[in-house]
Amino acid sequence: MNESRLFCLWGVEATGGKMMKRILVVEDNDLNRKLFCDVLAANGFSVEPVADGEMAIDRARAFVPNLVIMDIQLPNVSGLDLIARLKRDANLRNTPVLAVTAYAGKGDEERIREVGAQGYLAKPVSIGPFMAAVRNLIDRDSREAAA
Ligand code: MN
Repeated sequence: MNESRLFCLWGVEATGGKMMKRILVVEDNDLNRKLFCDVLAANGFSVEPVADGEMAIDRARAFVPNLVIMDIQLPNVSGLDLIARLKRDANLRNTPVLAVTAYAGKGDEERIREVGAQGYLAKPVSIGPFMAAVRNLIDRDSREAAA
């Protein structure tokens, strides 16, 4: 097998999914979760939806995402607590987190950043700012991985 054949095979594998960035979407609202996942998949990301916040940490450990999108208002558990738990996990603490919240108060944004989220969007979320924030944080993850 010559070099060009090897390169071709590698290229096929790369477009077959191995190079896709992974995004974990934790959101209990069915419409929002589907919207986020559809938009991300259409933009070439591999997406793992999580409706039940209590499953989020286990799913993150299994999926090893490049970015976590975290709804703050979840039943039974706070997105703030989940972010704090991600940041205490040795394998997940460097994964960027984009928080999404229905409350837009200044104190809320400070608390979200204090627990370790790198990005923050207030609902209702528009697609343009959403994808801009996703790309910004995914790039941050790449730089950390390359360093
Ligand atoms: Mn919610």
